[in-house]
Amino acid sequence: MKLTLKIKLLSDDIQFKALKNTLIEANTACNYISNVAFKKKVFNQYKIHKETYYVVKDTFNLSAQMAVRCISKVADSYKIDKKVKREYKPLGGIAYDSRILTYQINKMTVSLWTVNGRLKGIPFICHNTNYLPYIKGEADLVFKKGKFYLFQTVEVPDEEIKDVEEFIGCDFGMTDICVTSDGIKHSAEWINTYREHRQKIRSSIQAKADTSKRSTKRNCRKLTKRLSGRERTTSKIVNHTISKSIVKSAKEQEKGISIEDLTNIRFTSKKRNKTFRTKLGKWNFSDLRSKLEYKSKLNGVKLGLVQPPYTSQTCHCCKHIGKRTNKVFQCTNTNCKIDKMDADYNASLIISLLGVVVNQPEKSTMYCSIALHPLGLKPIRI
Ligand SMILES: [Zn+2]
Repeated sequence: MKLTLKIKLLSDDIQFKALKNTLIEANTACNYISNVAFKKKVFNQYKIHKETYYVVKDTFNLSAQMAVRCISKVADSYKIDKKVKREYKPLGGIAYDSRILTYQINKMTVSLWTVNGRLKGIPFICHNTNYLPYIKGEADLVFKKGKFYLFQTVEVPDEEIKDVEEFIGCDFGMTDICVTSDGIKHSAEWINTYREHRQKIRSSIQAKADTSKRSTKRNCRKLTKRLSGRERTTSKIVNHTISKSIVKSAKEQEKGISIEDLTNIRFTSKKRNKTFRTKLGKWNFSDLRSKLEYKSKLNGVKLGLVQPPYTSQTCHCCKHIGKRTNKVFQCTNTNCKIDKMDADYNASLIISLLGVVVNQPEKSTMYCSIALHPLGLKPIRI
C-alpha cells in the first residue's frame, strides 16, 4: 500500500537558506517553462522538454535532473486544465527523486541537491520510523509555516488479510465518536468541551470583526483560519488514536472490523441524508473511516462494509425494529428480553452481526432476519 510519510528536516541556517533558494530558483524556472508551454500550446512532457530544457539548463542554476523535475511539474499541472496559464508561487513544493535525494536511515539524515550544491547529512524526524525502509518513489520538498518537510512516498507491503468468524462493529455516534460492539466507548466528552470552547472564541472574534475596520477584519479572518486549522489537526490526532486502538484490538482478538457503508448514502434517501449530514458535520468521520480502512489493510485485518438502513433501529437480540430516541434504544417486541439499552451500543452490535452476514452469507442462517439487510430488503417489522 502506498502511503505518504511526513518528514521534518532539522536544517541549520545555511542549509535552510540553500533549501529556500532552491525552491525559489526551481519555481522561477517552472514559471518560465509554463510561459513557453502556454504560448506555444505544447503541453506534453516530451514536447515541453524539447522546447525548454536547454534554455532552462543555461539560464537557471539547476541540475539536469532538477530541470527535468520542473518540466514534469509543469506538464502535470497542464494535464488538468490547458485553458489557464499556470503560475507557481516562489516557495511552492518541488518533487525530488532518488537521483537528487538520498536517505541515510541508520543515521536519520538525508542528503539532497540544492542550488548551493549537495547538502549532506541534514537530520530529520519522522513519527512513523518503521515505514522508512519502504521508501520508494518521489518526495515533495515543501515549505510550511517556516519549516521544511519532505512528503515521501512509501510502499508498505500489505499483510495478508486473514479470514475471520467475528467482527467488531463500530457505530459512529454523536455523543461518542465511536462505540464498538466490544462495549468500548471512544468518548468525545473532552473534545466536545474543547470544540464548544473554540466555538465561543470564534464567535467572539467574529463579533469583533463585524464591528471593526477593514484591517482588523482581515486580522480576525486570519486568526479564525489559524484556529480552525488547529482544530482539524486535533481531530486528526484523535481519529488516529481511535482507529489505531480498534485495529489493534481486532488483530489481537482475530476479528474483523465492520462499519457502515456510507458511500452511496447521499443519493439513496433524502430523509436520511439530512440526519447524516448533521451527524457527520459534527465530527470528521470520513477521516476516521479512511484511517480505519488503511490501518486495517496494513495490519491484515478484514474490514466489512455493511448497509446502514435500520442499523440504529434494529434490536440486536431479536432483530425486530424498535424505537430509537436519541441515546436510548427500546425494543418493542414483548417477547424480547431487551427493554431499553444504549442506542449506539445496540447499533454497534447490529453492525457487528451484519459484518458476519456480509462476510459469509451462507453461514448466516442464525441471523436470518437481518441477513436480508445487505440485499436491500427490510427486516421483520412488528
Ligand atoms: Zn428485541
